Amino acid sequence: MNLTQAYIKKLFSAYYRAHIREFPDTASLPQREFAFLRWDHPGMVRHLGYPSKDFLLQYLISHGPRHSYHSATYYERPSAEKMEDKGYLGCDFVTDIDADHIPTACRSDHNYTICKACGNKEKGEKPEKCSKCDGTKFTKILWLCDECLNVSKQQAFNLVENFLVREFAIPLEAIQLNFSGHRGYHIHLDGDAWLHLDQDARREIADYVTGEGFSFKLWNFKKTQNVMQGFTLDQPGWPSKITREFYRVLKSGENNIWHYFKNPIYGRALNKPVIEKILNYRLKLITAIEKKSRIWDIPTLHDSSWHRIFYILRDHIKADIDVVVSIDLHRLIRLNGSLHGKAGFKVMSVPYETLKDYDPLVDGLAFPDNSENTITIQITAPLAPKIRIGDSEYGPYILGEKITLPLNAGLFLLCKDVALLVRN
Ligand SMILES: [Zn+2]
Ligand SMILES: [Zn+2]
Repeated sequence: MNLTQAYIKKLFSAYYRAHIREFPDTASLPQREFAFLRWDHPGMVRHLGYPSKDFLLQYLISHGPRHSYHSATYYERPSAEKMEDKGYLGCDFVTDIDADHIPTACRSDHNYTICKACGNKEKGEKPEKCSKCDGTKFTKILWLCDECLNVSKQQAFNLVENFLVREFAIPLEAIQLNFSGHRGYHIHLDGDAWLHLDQDARREIADYVTGEGFSFKLWNFKKTQNVMQGFTLDQPGWPSKITREFYRVLKSGENNIWHYFKNPIYGRALNKPVIEKILNYRLKLITAIEKKSRIWDIPTLHDSSWHRIFYILRDHIKADIDVVVSIDLHRLIRLNGSLHGKAGFKVMSVPYETLKDYDPLVDGLAFPDNSENTITIQITAPLAPKIRIGDSEYGPYILGEKITLPLNAGLFLLCKDVALLVRN
């Protein structure tokens, strides 16, 4: 453990000590396995169980762990070393939304890699080899910004609005939504309905929410005798969702239609002639949808273009949840109330009605934003991209720069591993 790590550990411990009283409860805590990554210990420390929150807090205060997790699973004996001895009792449905799934434009601005051999900075996240020394081992610098935080927030809205509430009829108060402490959100659903779902059932839910595996054939979304068979608003599931979204976009005006199909969230844009055809037949399509007609008539538009339209619409509706997390029956999830060692932000519950105004770079800060509370750090990476913390923007900083920053901003750079603490 170097000086910087010892410092962060002390800071995290102090944070937990100061927040004992308001530290959030973990539902069914005695049945959960706890696990930690520590500053002073290699590998994950896991198979820990606590009879009550007091014991958990004692651990957090004495170790100030880098990352803190608990199982989504309930066990008879959570601290048993072998999974088969734990006594599986069931598992909540948890899922994770993280900006790193989503191909935002900002990624190429703020993520990069460092060659481990020569320290050269390479653009992109997966260079084949270093352009200076041909080295092939790299450290990734994954940053965050308002764009990626907003994109993951939009996915959280999509999940809650388009699926959990509107379609699965889950009451809002039964949805536990947490800021992950980094670049995303966790959604946690407990209760009997979820407890005993097996992996296949969980995968089915995850695939449904991500819109994977939709069958054009099954739903007859194709041209028949040169006439396109679309969907209607009164069909169940995805067909009505697609219809509603298409209708909304068609009604939103020509400029918006251009922008929508020219800038898809994922994958290829529609080409100009296809968008022009949509515009030419816009009013006819609106009328067809209003009349609940399945005839979406744009002559000369091929099935493949219709499929592309479907995917672009789908990608605005779906929630880009992590399927692997969603189906894992032994998943460890971040402890609500803990600090995230890659940012220094707090994992926290965000009531859905406050999500719109929730600002992770203000509300997720662990320490008071107080101008006297500063630390001095020195940049050790080729570049520390700029970051907004609270109302101020910091950086970009270059290798060797020595700076005195407010605590939350300095801590972020230390946690991101692009700087070291300088002893005052
Ligand atoms: Zn190199
Ligand atoms: Zn970003």
